[in-house]
Amino acid sequence: MYLNNKMTIEEVDIKGKRVFIRADLNVPLDGNQNITDDTRIRFTLPTINYAIDEGAKVILCSHLGRPKGKRIEQFSLVPVAKRLQRLLNKEVIFANDCVGKEVEDIVAKMKAGDVLLLENLRFHSGEEANDEAFSKSLAKLADVYVNDAFGAAHRNHSSISGITKYVPVAVAGFLMKKEIGYLEGAVANPVRPFAAVLGGAKVSGKIGVIENLGEKVDKVIIGGGMAFTFIKAMGQEVGDSLVEEGMLEFANKIRKKAQERGVKFYLPVDCVVATSMDPGAETKIVTTQEIPKGWKALDIGPASVKLFAEAIANAKTIIWNGPMGVFEMDAFSRGTFAIARTIADSYATTIVGGGDTSLAAHRAGISDAFSFVSTGGGAALQLLEGKPLPGLTALADRKL
Ligand code: AMP
Repeated sequence: MYLNNKMTIEEVDIKGKRVFIRADLNVPLDGNQNITDDTRIRFTLPTINYAIDEGAKVILCSHLGRPKGKRIEQFSLVPVAKRLQRLLNKEVIFANDCVGKEVEDIVAKMKAGDVLLLENLRFHSGEEANDEAFSKSLAKLADVYVNDAFGAAHRNHSSISGITKYVPVAVAGFLMKKEIGYLEGAVANPVRPFAAVLGGAKVSGKIGVIENLGEKVDKVIIGGGMAFTFIKAMGQEVGDSLVEEGMLEFANKIRKKAQERGVKFYLPVDCVVATSMDPGAETKIVTTQEIPKGWKALDIGPASVKLFAEAIANAKTIIWNGPMGVFEMDAFSRGTFAIARTIADSYATTIVGGGDTSLAAHRAGISDAFSFVSTGGGAALQLLEGKPLPGLTALADRKL
């Protein structure tokens, strides 16, 4: 839908212009304002460096955490400015606010190649409210607007969509282009066989993805908590495992629909069960037909890992979204990490669809082994559901 359609930063003249880049610099911080993972900053460096090299006046903005419209020092972007300065090996000017006279004065004094980082957008309630006046205040700072914040592209906020109505031109940055290229490109034109590996807690959270990808893939592999709604829907007992009673009918419908279309549908054949979701709980491995009463299935078992690995062995495109079990706890993480390694080792184009799944890939220490790991949780899901992203819809269309 967006691919090849939206203009990018390379297609506009930015020399000497005020280039306003909406980035996703929402990094995790420890209690003492130290950045614990600067991946998000690093991912947007190509866009920033390009703008510097082209002689633009680079103005960066982002949200950080959820200060809910109030100035809370704990959510200040000062630590990001310091890290960015180190990564760019260049001075980064910091503005104490993101709109207003003082900021406008700083921008007016900027020279070509200067980099300015504005304070947290969410210190103003207008940002999340997509307030018109706030959008206009931001737009005052921009000759060219660039959205490189894929992770926030599903939000209808001022700096994402509102601002685009008041700037001369709105285009995509390199990270945005890459995310769309992989997530949308793979789904629109997959090299087949195309397999989707889906997991996570609930069917209800992934209905859109299951429906949309179910239409396009050759194989669907379902693990995680959501598998037990599918298994229960087939008439099996699943003990105290997570089941969404309201989704049983949908689960059966989607499985039958897939089978009618010749799509192969795989569910776990064994699982790790425990008496409670607790790292120290008693556990055992049973087949999914023998989950004892009072026990919960919290991970897929070794036979399922083998089955899933064989199912994806000949795939040429694999998209993975959602963990296979409660991977946050050691006792229930093996299935997720084994599947992560299997996908990473495959010769297919492998795409990891954001959020918890990217975190699991990161924890397994193998993110580099995938063709692409998305930086956006909600945004990636929305794109995989085939739904429009406000942050992309708002960008200028390329004239064909
Ligand atoms: P989601 O946000 O829907 O992708 O779900 C991710 C969450 O699903 C993770 O926090 C996992 O702990 C959880 N999860 C995965 N498998 C199970 C399971 N079998 N039972 C309960 N929760 C699960």
